[in-house]
Amino acid sequence: MATATKSKSKSGTSSHAANGHANGSAGNGFSKAAVTIFDQVGLPKDPDNLYTQTVSVMLHAAELMGLPDYLRLILAQPKNEIMVHFPVKMDNGKHELFKGYRVQHNNALGPYKGGLRFHHDVHLDDVKSLAFLMTMKCSLVGVPYGGGKGGIKVDPRQHSKTEMEHIVRRFTAAIAHNIGPDYDIPAPDVGSNSQHMAWIADTFSFLSEIGGDNPAAVITGKPIEYGGSLGREKATGQGVVDTLVEMLPELKLKPEKCTFSVLGYGNVGSWSGKIFQDKGAKMIAVADHTGFIRNDRGIDAYDLDTHVKKTGGVKGYAKATAISKEEFYKTKVDVFIPAALEQMIQEPEANMMNCRVVAEGANAPTTPAGERILMSKGIEVLPAILCNAGGVTVSYFEWVQNKTFQAWDLESVDAELNKHMVKAAQKTRKARAEFKCDLRTAAYIAALQRLKEAYEIRGLFP
Ligand code: GLU
Repeated sequence: MATATKSKSKSGTSSHAANGHANGSAGNGFSKAAVTIFDQVGLPKDPDNLYTQTVSVMLHAAELMGLPDYLRLILAQPKNEIMVHFPVKMDNGKHELFKGYRVQHNNALGPYKGGLRFHHDVHLDDVKSLAFLMTMKCSLVGVPYGGGKGGIKVDPRQHSKTEMEHIVRRFTAAIAHNIGPDYDIPAPDVGSNSQHMAWIADTFSFLSEIGGDNPAAVITGKPIEYGGSLGREKATGQGVVDTLVEMLPELKLKPEKCTFSVLGYGNVGSWSGKIFQDKGAKMIAVADHTGFIRNDRGIDAYDLDTHVKKTGGVKGYAKATAISKEEFYKTKVDVFIPAALEQMIQEPEANMMNCRVVAEGANAPTTPAGERILMSKGIEVLPAILCNAGGVTVSYFEWVQNKTFQAWDLESVDAELNKHMVKAAQKTRKARAEFKCDLRTAAYIAALQRLKEAYEIRGLFP
């Protein structure tokens, strides 16, 4: 395994303060205000903990904009954390017990929404962090959803199609009473795909009498033949490129003149690569769990995609040279697109990186300590809650189409997506100007503003 393994707790000094966010540090680099909330809601004050890291960035934004205390408390923990264990018979006749999760972070703006990760290294804290990020992302990009996330601790590559079908259907049965087209709507994430979504929709429709007119609307990212939307498969990558096109001019960069590298060549990485290349940009280096490759004359993003689909990774791609991890990160490019897992840009990687912009296609790829280094090097980070919001935005369009029995054409999907991405980028820029902060903090402020308005109008029951 070369790189696409997330390395947790490697950076001993990652911190809020390290990110330039110190506001009266109370140890471990977290601000006093953040530590007060951590104590109140029972969060570990561990700077390496992904969930603590994620919430601390929100709390910094909350501090700057003066978010009421009760909202900081509400947002610092998810509403529900569901954990299930379920047995499945394997092809060899033996049973295995699987662990599944669904975390429902917040539903103030609408039903819980977010993907399902199928990965052998998925834990509750990861799922909590990702659910939290969905709340922020949906708020920022202006879709009427809250945030959720789920997953199964499983390596899909280790199972036959039949085994995966049984695992996915049995997981659906285990959480069926906790999801629904108007309550919690899952979608694909790392390791899951449209076939899995189809099995979930079918299982839910079969089990559920509460699905309404179209129970398949319980999930998005479905195949086109079964209620999916045109443009959903490429949507996250499309959103990454829409964000770049919107944000690059202020950095005096032109998409058609850009060079870029991509970390992770799955759905998000490959579509970002292909669409950015279509704008005239040149892909120089790519890495995934199988290896690191480079070609200074350019790697054709479509051709590499064909190779990866055939062989399972970038390794062995004949039209590029195999390089080391260090060479990959040190490759000089205009744009670096992390599109794999969380916490992959820590201090060592950030120290090596030689780019102008990081466009976060993955969720939470940069640790606070990594980000501090990027900032000190003058590298602009386009934060994930903005940059990768294209996926959930087109999921929203799919859900609307399901609920109204419509089928939009691709031009309409792309045009609507672009409107949402541009508006979210504008809101982020506005918050940056008003609060004189970095783009990540600004994106959180813009997201929190919408949540604050909703809570103020709704009030709190009872
Ligand atoms: N898993 C994707 C994300 O992290 C998409 C979620 C969705 O479409 O609901 O944004």
